[in-house]
Amino acid sequence: MENFIENYFIVIILELIKYCLVAVPLFFFYYIRYRKDFVANKIQSENISVKDIKKEIYNSTVVFSIISLLNCLILYTPLVNYTLIYRDISDYSIIWLLLSIPAGLLIHDTYFYWMHRLLHHKKLFRRAHIIHHQSTNPTPFASYSFHYLEAIVEGLIIPLLLFIIPLHPNAVYSFVVFSFIINVYGHLGYEIAPKWFRSSFLFNVLNTSTYHNLHHSHGYGNYGLYFRFWDKILGTENPEYIRLYDEIQDRRFIKNNQEYNQKYLLIRNKQLPQYIQMAIQKEYHQNTPTLSEFISDLENLLPTTSMPKDKLDKIRHYLATEEKDYHTFQSLMDLLFSVQRIPENEDLILLRNQLKF
Ligand SMILES: [Zn+2]
Ligand SMILES: [Zn+2]
Repeated sequence: MENFIENYFIVIILELIKYCLVAVPLFFFYYIRYRKDFVANKIQSENISVKDIKKEIYNSTVVFSIISLLNCLILYTPLVNYTLIYRDISDYSIIWLLLSIPAGLLIHDTYFYWMHRLLHHKKLFRRAHIIHHQSTNPTPFASYSFHYLEAIVEGLIIPLLLFIIPLHPNAVYSFVVFSFIINVYGHLGYEIAPKWFRSSFLFNVLNTSTYHNLHHSHGYGNYGLYFRFWDKILGTENPEYIRLYDEIQDRRFIKNNQEYNQKYLLIRNKQLPQYIQMAIQKEYHQNTPTLSEFISDLENLLPTTSMPKDKLDKIRHYLATEEKDYHTFQSLMDLLFSVQRIPENEDLILLRNQLKF
């Protein structure tokens, strides 16, 4: 018994160290130190609250204690003799050792999908899953922020795997680490998938941070943990997913530079007057801009605005007009400014007068 308690505490401490080693640096990197450099990657624009994070850290600590207990009850008691765990790699093969990790992830994804659907049943949602959904704009700290009842169901996966497939301890550790990293990525709040990912077959198979973020922002759909299979088969995938993913990646890869991020931040915070101000003072002060320069600037910023679709289409139509004249430009500006409710001011008049045609 003493041995069990000792092992239990070691496992909890290791779990918490793993959590701190991944979630804390990621949070510091994306949310504090380089926040301004990754504005284009941010999936939702709202700011996060410190109170929520404190609650998420508390919940996660409880969750890790429960998951560790469940794992220890199997691994450090006579129950281990009934599992399919093996210590000698040659009992199976290196190929199985490698394959057992994705096999574990596939089983976990299926288990998670159905468990998650069940947790969204009205009664269970209100009783337990609502805790995880309190994080509508998740950060890495939300990854393991569950109700204790949900923690029990979630934590059964390792015991379940140990009884279903032969697993070497190294495969179990690898599974735990992969699962943890993917889960934290799903709650990162930033899309960091590389550009090539969109055109590879993996895009149709794997989840992304945007994918799980939509589950949090909408409260339904995209129930899968690692893969898109089940959501696709059962029609529970959020239809907005691909559009939102492409929008974020376009933002990142078309104009991923500091100047863009700065402008984007202004537009995203509905600070178009400040953007115009910046444009006048910093960029157009020395050289009078041409109409096309200014329009191309606006064109780059348009996808980032949250304008009603019909207004956006009108602006796009203006931008697509080959022969842009002063009147077209005036209409465009009027439309933009009416949408953003920006009062006419001297700077704007100055800018309009300065434009070359
Ligand atoms: Zn959910
Ligand atoms: Zn989540």
